[in-house]
Amino acid sequence: MKAKAKIRNTMLKVIAKPNMNRVLKLEQDLYNNKNSYKSTTVSPERFEILYEILKLKDDNVKLPGFPRTIPIIGSSISDIKNTLNLLSENNGHTSKKVNKSFIKELEEYAKTLGVGSIGYTKVPRKYIFKDFAIMYDNAIVFTMEMNKDILENAPDYSTGVMVHKTYNKLGKISMKIAEFLRKNGCDAHVGHPLMGQTLYPALGELAGLGFHGNHGMLITPKFGPRVRIAAVYTNIENLPINLSDKHKWIEEFCGKCKICVKKCPGEAIYQNSIKNEYGIIKSVDSHKCFKIFSEKHGCTVCMKVCPFNQVGYEKLYNAHKTKINNSKD
Ligand code: SF4
Ligand code: SF4
Repeated sequence: MKAKAKIRNTMLKVIAKPNMNRVLKLEQDLYNNKNSYKSTTVSPERFEILYEILKLKDDNVKLPGFPRTIPIIGSSISDIKNTLNLLSENNGHTSKKVNKSFIKELEEYAKTLGVGSIGYTKVPRKYIFKDFAIMYDNAIVFTMEMNKDILENAPDYSTGVMVHKTYNKLGKISMKIAEFLRKNGCDAHVGHPLMGQTLYPALGELAGLGFHGNHGMLITPKFGPRVRIAAVYTNIENLPINLSDKHKWIEEFCGKCKICVKKCPGEAIYQNSIKNEYGIIKSVDSHKCFKIFSEKHGCTVCMKVCPFNQVGYEKLYNAHKTKINNSKD
């Protein structure tokens, strides 16, 4: 085995694996907490990317931005542990009501931290990953933009580093938002963007932040799919829950586009996303995607080539509307 691959495997086994095991133990404790909201029998499995990486034997594997991403991922895993440990700081209230000015203050604060968009939803238990749990079923969901110019290099070392920097930054922002909530007498549980306990694109869609694309990612009006998503679960029971489905037109657009399907180097994206009888959507063969992900710095080609990244939501929406109006004439 080449020296670089040996270093990679040693670092993963000695540093990442024990920390990951600790995270899983804390997540298990949360699942065993009698007050937590647990997954259902129809919930999807979480794809355990780090454990999949540990199985890799290939010398030529190019993990996203390795080795520069090692301290960044280490910091994210440490933050995930902290977010779970911080659950003990909650007041233990069963529910809480806030007023409109508090929500305004929260949104303004989130924006100063770098949040791109923010929305609210109840969390259906089917969107909690199988055998995982969250502490509250009211979610504040937010997105953060990824760097457009660096994404253009994908698949590349620089993209791998940028993606992990975004995960890390958004994780720290989520922790600050949880701290803000606690200081104001509310309870909070951070869903870190790197390894959340829920299906984020589905949650983002419910929160009105966009709609899932054929590639499975959330397509947002401001940044297309070029975002990472995080959530803070809270005991606030009167969040201004989204009721609109104004981004649903994306489904029709994707039906005719399929650029992501054609350009995916791993042939991992299904021609049409599969919706099961419980309404859970699967767009990508995770194992096929992971093969390319591990060989090409995290890949991210599907995000790059999507017209919602290249052209932008507004232009596509206007063209779509014009087409529909013309077809009526
Ligand atoms: S590339 Fe096309 S089909 Fe794929 S998600 Fe983007 S718009 Fe939809
Ligand atoms: S990350 Fe790459 S391999 Fe995975 S689905 Fe997207 S384009 Fe395909």
